Amino acid sequence: MSFRSGEVIVRLVELDGLRVKQFISLRDSMELMSRILSEGGVRGTIVVDSGEVVDNGELYWALRRLGARLAPVSSSGVENVFTPLDNLGFYDEVVPDRFRVYNSTEELLYRNWPTPIVKLNSLSDGRVNVWAKLEFYNPFSNSIKDRIGWFMFKRALESGCGESHLLYEATSTNTGVALASMAAIHGFKAKLFLPATVQKASDVLLKVLGAEVVRVPKRITVEFVEDVDREARRDGSLHLNQFENDANFEVHLRYTAKEIDYQLMGAGIRPRAIIGGIGTSGHLSAIAFYFKNKTRNSIEVYAAQPRPGDTIPGIRRIESGMKWIHWVEIDDIIDVARDDALREMINLARSEGLLVGMSSGAVIAAFKKLRERGIQEGDYILVFPDHGCKYVEQLSEYLKRESPGT
Ligand code: PLP
Repeated sequence: MSFRSGEVIVRLVELDGLRVKQFISLRDSMELMSRILSEGGVRGTIVVDSGEVVDNGELYWALRRLGARLAPVSSSGVENVFTPLDNLGFYDEVVPDRFRVYNSTEELLYRNWPTPIVKLNSLSDGRVNVWAKLEFYNPFSNSIKDRIGWFMFKRALESGCGESHLLYEATSTNTGVALASMAAIHGFKAKLFLPATVQKASDVLLKVLGAEVVRVPKRITVEFVEDVDREARRDGSLHLNQFENDANFEVHLRYTAKEIDYQLMGAGIRPRAIIGGIGTSGHLSAIAFYFKNKTRNSIEVYAAQPRPGDTIPGIRRIESGMKWIHWVEIDDIIDVARDDALREMINLARSEGLLVGMSSGAVIAAFKKLRERGIQEGDYILVFPDHGCKYVEQLSEYLKRESPGT
């Protein structure tokens, strides 16, 4: 497709077909991405010569990170043309496949999106409606972490890393399972470093997937990750590093956040607020960036973190060191007690028949705290990162303590 802007022809071309030499970092791309999301489209064109980007590489990288299929292109720069995102195949990647037949288990992940959103009637009263995005529908780790495992791995292979076919990562289980699956699919060997606090069942799951498991008697901290990085460098292994790798934020921007937008638009729901947990901060930061910009700050975003001294697998306190959350706007961070997270998991199981993970329980507890403070009517979206099956040890300990005999 093409159109004329003054003397210049503007063509809409497949972004994937363009070659680019210049690299713009995520951080440097964010201002332009923010403008594109808030204006709902793109000003100007990418200047291309024989399929190669020769000017306005910033626009190339912004559109690529936002997951547009097409880009407005000209042979000399055009400033005064505006192309709406809808004309650029912005939502194409998140439109569900109709027949759901897949050519590989990897495709089963990225072509099976969006993961479902379900109304939680037990928490809704008509004035306030609560919806949950169910990330346990991802096939490998039954968690939101499949997205980053896939995307970080894919990006590394695209840039020629991974010759050693060895992969090291610090993980509290889910990223480890996702990466162990990617390693199995691509013939890599994964060595995963788990903090002592994580449930024992994780070792078994990871070993079944062919990974080597190393237990470290510490919580995941910056030093923990630095130790893994040092070992990986010593052994010539690929360390994707979910805590620093911008592919983490990018996959959630391009897919998770956009899916929620696409799904809610289709259902005619305009969210009042989105609530999620923070571990690396990848998913909630990307969701905040996307919705804050796209709705000109009219949607609130809240983060759940464990209260001081408590552990809730998968989520951490913001001061323990995380990257992307400091680049975006969050309305508030809500402390949750471990026992409240467990109690809300059980409440949900007994009211909705849905067994979700501990960080999902924490997200419910955070929502309830907000509700107690007094919230406006509207639709509230809770992001549930994983399934409850992994937390049998924590649940059985809680049940023994709180209701002996069950
Ligand atoms: N919940 C669970 C169960 C997780 O495994 C994780 C991350 O490991 C999170 C929440 C936090 O997600 P993020 O790392 O995107 O902040």
